[in-house]
Amino acid sequence: MSTLTELYACPICGKTFSRKESLAKHIARRHGNMIVILRATTIINRLQEIEHQLKIISREIDRIKCILERLSEEGRIVVQQKKEEAGLKTVDSNLPSFLQDNPWLAVLSKRGR
Ligand SMILES: [Zn+2]
Repeated sequence: MSTLTELYACPICGKTFSRKESLAKHIARRHGNMIVILRATTIINRLQEIEHQLKIISREIDRIKCILERLSEEGRIVVQQKKEEAGLKTVDSNLPSFLQDNPWLAVLSKRGR
C-alpha cells in the first residue's frame, strides 16, 4: 500500500489533501464561515429544544399550581367542617346556658353508666 493513496478528503467540498494539516488549513480558510453557520444552526436547534422543554415545564408548573390551589381549598373546607363540628358540640342550644361549655357535663355523664 502506497502512502500516496492515503488522501484526506474535505467533508464539505470533497477536495483531497495528502496531509491532514493541509485539510485542516483548507477547511479553516475556505469553509470557516460554513463552520460558523453550522455551529450557529446547532445552537439555534438547541435553543428551540430548550424553549420547547421550557413550555412543557411551565405547563406542568401551572398544573401543579392548580392542584395545590384545589388541595388548599379542600383543606380549608375540612378545617371549616372540623371547626363547625367542634362548635356544635360545645354550643348545644337544647342545654341551659350554665351547662353549655361546662367541662363537668362530660365527667357527670360517664358516672351514670
Ligand atoms: Zn473544502
